Amino acid sequence: MHLYLHIPFCAAKCPYCDFNSVAGREDEYGRYVDALLTEVRRCPRGPYDTLFIGGGTPSILPPAMLARLLAGVRDHVTLAPDYEWTSEANPGSADAERFRVLVEHGVNRLSLGIQSTHDRHLRFLGRVHDAAEAERALALACAAAPRVSADLIMGLPGQTDAELLADLDLYRRHRLDHASVYHLTYEPGTEFHARRARGELTEIDAETSRRQFDLLWDELAALGLDAYETSNFARSGQESRHNLAYWRQRDYQAVGAGAVSTWAGVRTTREKHSGRYIEAIASGGDAAWRVETLTPTERLRECWMLGLRLKEGVDTTRADDLGDRAARWRPRADAMIGQGLLEEDGRMLRLTRRGRPVQDEVTVWMMP
Ligand code: SF4
Repeated sequence: MHLYLHIPFCAAKCPYCDFNSVAGREDEYGRYVDALLTEVRRCPRGPYDTLFIGGGTPSILPPAMLARLLAGVRDHVTLAPDYEWTSEANPGSADAERFRVLVEHGVNRLSLGIQSTHDRHLRFLGRVHDAAEAERALALACAAAPRVSADLIMGLPGQTDAELLADLDLYRRHRLDHASVYHLTYEPGTEFHARRARGELTEIDAETSRRQFDLLWDELAALGLDAYETSNFARSGQESRHNLAYWRQRDYQAVGAGAVSTWAGVRTTREKHSGRYIEAIASGGDAAWRVETLTPTERLRECWMLGLRLKEGVDTTRADDLGDRAARWRPRADAMIGQGLLEEDGRMLRLTRRGRPVQDEVTVWMMP
């Protein structure tokens, strides 16, 4: 079983961010933790294989509040013997005390939003930390927790190959076993999206982007970090088991504003606004904003979409179990295999490295 807890609060809203996150609601923190714990107590007791506290910025909560949240979770749920419990943290609110509280209550994996090791890019991204703070936070995290991952963003306007390589060097310096490297995207509704539309931002060109992906894959492979998912790299056995469960379409519980759970074929999206979420839960409601029963076609489309993100690929037997037919997907797969974009290994169908940069196109082609 898997449980996700969402903390929507951040020190400032980054101009590229389309997550459910908000700045300046410090007065809600305490009541939000109450609401989260109320929801947690409505979840099955477990045992849970993985838990994940994401955001937003979970590390923005004061240490005593983090302790109350985690103790409350532990009071209700049981953990599987080899459970994985991740908490995200950002360098701007990372300190030894918070990491100690997290680890003492059972967190055994920290995921840090580093994003860049260059101050000019951190400023561009609107981050509240600088490169020196990122470095300190990473060192503290490594001293506190057995497993640490760091997020970076690539594809930044004006980012040079040398800067990308310098960013990637942090995985070597801190001997990290897990890396998440996301390409900057311009999501509708974000400030960057509007600035690009006004011509104030120039997207990185396709050729540079392709070249930097090659650099990324080669560099991380040389460090022993294997691309097990489109944007995620790990030493064998160090993959994020929580995220793998999501990509493999397992059921998961979720609590918090905007959190999405999928349980027994029903997907529930909670109220996104933290204030309204708190009110709904405090008055005995479930804060459900949308409840959908997934249709077989939706599950099948997700099977292809999520499977093609993974190095292991799509399990075609599972796709057929979900209602697909080889008569539909086989000719399409053969065309992609012929172009060197897909490869087949038994019942698994996966993108080749050549296919990775055109993942979206291949996915659209393969989906029912
Ligand atoms: S810190 Fe993360 S979640 Fe918060 S606004 Fe920035 S990108 Fe979004």
